[in-house]
Amino acid sequence: MNTISNTAKTRLASLKHNIEEARNSFLGYPVSKDFDYDELNPFLKYPINNLGDPFEDCTYKVQTHEMEREVIGFFAKLFRANPTNYWGYVTNGGSESNLYGLYLARELYPKAMVYYSESTHYSVKKNIHLLNIPSIVIRSQENGEIDYEDFENTVRMNRHKPAIVLTTFGTTMKEAKDDVSKIKNILKNLAIQDHYIHCDAALAGSYGAFIEPRIPFDFKDGVDSISISGHKFIGSPMPCGIIITKRSNRDRIATGISYIGSLDTTITGSRNGHSPLFLWYALKKLGMEGLRKRYQHSLETAEYCKNKLNEIGINAWINPGAITVVLPKTPFEVKQKWQLATESDISHVICMPNVTKAQIDEFIYDIVNSKENVEEEELVFEF
Ligand SMILES: *Cc1c(COP(=O)(O)O)cnc(C)c1O
Repeated sequence: MNTISNTAKTRLASLKHNIEEARNSFLGYPVSKDFDYDELNPFLKYPINNLGDPFEDCTYKVQTHEMEREVIGFFAKLFRANPTNYWGYVTNGGSESNLYGLYLARELYPKAMVYYSESTHYSVKKNIHLLNIPSIVIRSQENGEIDYEDFENTVRMNRHKPAIVLTTFGTTMKEAKDDVSKIKNILKNLAIQDHYIHCDAALAGSYGAFIEPRIPFDFKDGVDSISISGHKFIGSPMPCGIIITKRSNRDRIATGISYIGSLDTTITGSRNGHSPLFLWYALKKLGMEGLRKRYQHSLETAEYCKNKLNEIGINAWINPGAITVVLPKTPFEVKQKWQLATESDISHVICMPNVTKAQIDEFIYDIVNSKENVEEEELVFEF
């Protein structure tokens, strides 16, 4: 048996230490870290590969297609898809899921124009470039939501073309949510029958159904596909995502591949077979009610964080139903310690389920006691 050297062992130990340290203090990225998948450790011994379509039989049997179908079924129900006309698979992440949604849209409407707002995730621009579809960027409102008036005026000028609209349910910086029913109404008023709406719900899709009052984003509201990230709100040791779409749409792109004895309906060939299992396990543990509670906890923490920031004179705010607290840029040392993402003059704290009030208190303490804060108060906190 080959073993690794002691030097390599030391490196592993220090890597583990560093990763643990970094994990313990971050508030700036939408990643849950409160998971426990120990029961699944034995499955790391197998070369699980979910190649092919999860809803089709496949020659390769070391796979978790059955669990994958249950995960897809869970989200299809949560997103109010037609129970007899949905399809999907577990992807490598929200970016691949978005690519898939846009790919289906382009296959349906090869001559379409894509519309997305300036707050859209950076992966979407790349996906549109890969697919070589013409696109137009729509202005965002101050809160990060798409500017419906600009959308309407822009689509009106391109009425002769089918429309692919990429809406975002939870933008990266401000967690703003585009209202799908407003988009749908605009398309209806302009009589654009050939249209496809893909909803990028990477973070907020997992709890979108529990937001009160409801913000339209799902199949009943009129979308054709929805993507989410599995490692964000639910949490997973490896990045993963989910795409849910209408079965009728994916049928149009399905071609049989005899080598794998399945349909080539997914973007990659070999696919992670562990991530569907992790998601399945998380959903079995949580159930619909557990997921709702998880969201409510985050919502409370976000409200707490916003209030605490307001109490020390910082102009922090939250979009309706969001778990992301938006605030003016913090001093550099605070940004570094808490790993806060910053864009132009704003920063954010994302109150993922693992974030505690004690952590928020520590974060507030750091801001209050930052030396930079005293010297550059005006500059740092201008909004
Ligand atoms: C995180 C995120 C993505 C990308 O998802 P990955 O899982 O990182 O590929 C896409 N859109 C939004 C709005 C996101 O927040």
